[in-house]
Amino acid sequence: DNSSAYDVVTRLTRWADDFPEPGVRFADLTPVFSDAAGFRVVVDALAASAPDAEVIAAVDARGFLLGGGVARELGSGVVAVRKAGKLPPPVLAQSYTLEYGTATLEIPADVLGLDGRSVLVVDDVLATGGTIEATARLLESAGAVVIGVAVVLEIAVLGGRRRLGKYPLTSLVTV
Ligand code: AMP
Repeated sequence: DNSSAYDVVTRLTRWADDFPEPGVRFADLTPVFSDAAGFRVVVDALAASAPDAEVIAAVDARGFLLGGGVARELGSGVVAVRKAGKLPPPVLAQSYTLEYGTATLEIPADVLGLDGRSVLVVDDVLATGGTIEATARLLESAGAVVIGVAVVLEIAVLGGRRRLGKYPLTSLVTV
């Protein structure tokens, strides 16, 4: 349930100051996922946020671990939302702005059958929300209906929740 997920994430998350650049406090969830009970309660809590999802969209790269587990739990499909250049063409692409420069996310074009499907977006950490916003746009460009976003950890001061205002958002821990 959500309280045991909260406890395990709070206890096992490894925080790193000034990584990957000065001023950033990086949350490393690797010890949560490597703990058998931790991985299970986190996946179960994310899955419970959208029991009707037909497809899980898992965000590169730590979202992949969670997304596969959530999809298995719900009996849904799973799609890896990849960083640019990993998939052969044709692809659908969505670029977005980072603090310095831009990034692009991609999924295969035409073959996923996402049109009209209910999709839950899953990732480990919500920071500014730029990555998940771009993911949602990408899925919508394929005709999907984004029914929610689920993350393990939300860094509230960075404003991701406001940016994703139109999507129901579940975070297991907010800091
Ligand atoms: P954003 O687009 O700003 O919401 O950043 C989200 C992506 O960057 C997620 O895939 C996170 O894994 C990663 N990320 C951003 N900031 C942090 C942080 N402080 N700690 C851990 N991961 C982060």
